[in-house]
Amino acid sequence: MNIAVIGTGYVGLVTGVCLAEIGHSVTCLDIDEEKIGLLNHGKSPIFEEGLEDLLEKNLQRGRLDFTTDYWEGLAGKEIIYLAVGTPETADGSADLTFIEAAGRAIAAHLKQNAVIVTKSTVPVGTNQSIKRMIESELAEPVQIRIVSNPEFLRQGTAVHDTFHGDRIVIGSDDPAALALLEEINRPFQLPIVKTDLRSAEMIKYASNAFLAAKISFINEMAHLCAHVGANVDNVAEGMGMDSRIGGKFLQAGVGYGGSCFPKDTNALIAMGRSYDYPMPLLGSVQHVNDKQRDWLVEMIQTRLGNLEGKTIALLGMTFKPNTDDMRESPAIRVAEQLQAAGATLRGYDPVAVLRARQVMPATVMLTDNLQEAVQGADCAVIITDWKQVKDLPLEEYAGLLASPLLFDGRNCFNLKVAEASGIEYHSIGRPIVN
Ligand code: NAD
Repeated sequence: MNIAVIGTGYVGLVTGVCLAEIGHSVTCLDIDEEKIGLLNHGKSPIFEEGLEDLLEKNLQRGRLDFTTDYWEGLAGKEIIYLAVGTPETADGSADLTFIEAAGRAIAAHLKQNAVIVTKSTVPVGTNQSIKRMIESELAEPVQIRIVSNPEFLRQGTAVHDTFHGDRIVIGSDDPAALALLEEINRPFQLPIVKTDLRSAEMIKYASNAFLAAKISFINEMAHLCAHVGANVDNVAEGMGMDSRIGGKFLQAGVGYGGSCFPKDTNALIAMGRSYDYPMPLLGSVQHVNDKQRDWLVEMIQTRLGNLEGKTIALLGMTFKPNTDDMRESPAIRVAEQLQAAGATLRGYDPVAVLRARQVMPATVMLTDNLQEAVQGADCAVIITDWKQVKDLPLEEYAGLLASPLLFDGRNCFNLKVAEASGIEYHSIGRPIVN
């Protein structure tokens, strides 16, 4: 099928490349000329495992192309995916500016009937209002149908998730459009949930909010574990073996970040507010998450006292491993607080040094060399559980640091291993070792 994908960010690019891989003819469209320039040369503007290989392969096959021109991008396309950003506004609600601008551009350039498929995460009711808006502005007398097809990929494993996800959700009030989307997605061979437009929009928010709640739940338990002398990892293991609970997303740590959980929980709360329902559970989920960063900083301050003149190595800048995305990364707030307390900071990240430079306090020295970051520092603080960080033996940390002191915001190391290494090891919701 002939498909256009509008927006070539983390979601749009992966979607476009994977739709080409399963045999569709795909044009990806973005207003960012630099991105499109790179993509036309087979270079991915984002770091995502396996993406560049599929990109090159499908460019060569002639199934995939990239443009900044809406005439070219929409010409002859029966299906148009919308994958532009929906960031957070000042009051927490979703900013629909990009969706509206893309909708207007579709209305101005569409010359044939088309099904519009919204991948972007949008508040309930948005698909219906976007459809109305496009219909009212159409330059040609064509017919449009609309489908909500929310995205569940995880950055870092986005390509894998597209081919091996748990389900594909498609929602529409138009049976013909639903049937078409089912056909497009059939080659992925994944379970398909067919539902109405509003329920599909809601499934996305409810799923992200539930996962965020699971993380905050275990983080709250971690606090109590620290007080009562229990080990939160053992608690999580014992809880997770109960199939009603499940073991995933029960990893205590410095809290969730990224471009989705914080903004989507906020958008859900804003949605509730607009119906005079305050969503008290989700407010607490966010509160607990915010406090996790503060907790890590407090642990460091309690142990080291005055941070003036102290050098601290922050390990991992991104909000999780295997991505270069810095959006809402816990590293930012931890760095700001430590710096405000007088510490000199070094930051390590294997892939995101350039992106980190744009958002971290200017005085943080950034490097992609782990040893260089740790060497001679007064302590190291793990923010992201990158493989490189987990693979460096604790004995080596101890040898590199000015004094053998490690704060682990991701509980990367087994306590027995930490004990044997001799390093003083502080983690989240587990006893201090050595
Ligand atoms: P992104 O910011 O990485 O990419 C958005 C892209 O849209 C950018 O390249 C931007 O230049 C382009 N764009 C903006 N306006 C445009 C226009 N008028 N015409 C053409 N292109 C335009 O965003 P993302 O992370 O890919 O997220 C996209 C949507 O998917 C959001 O709603 C997000 O909540 C949702 N989502 C994201 C993830 C994730 O892991 N990143 C997962 C699931 C859902």
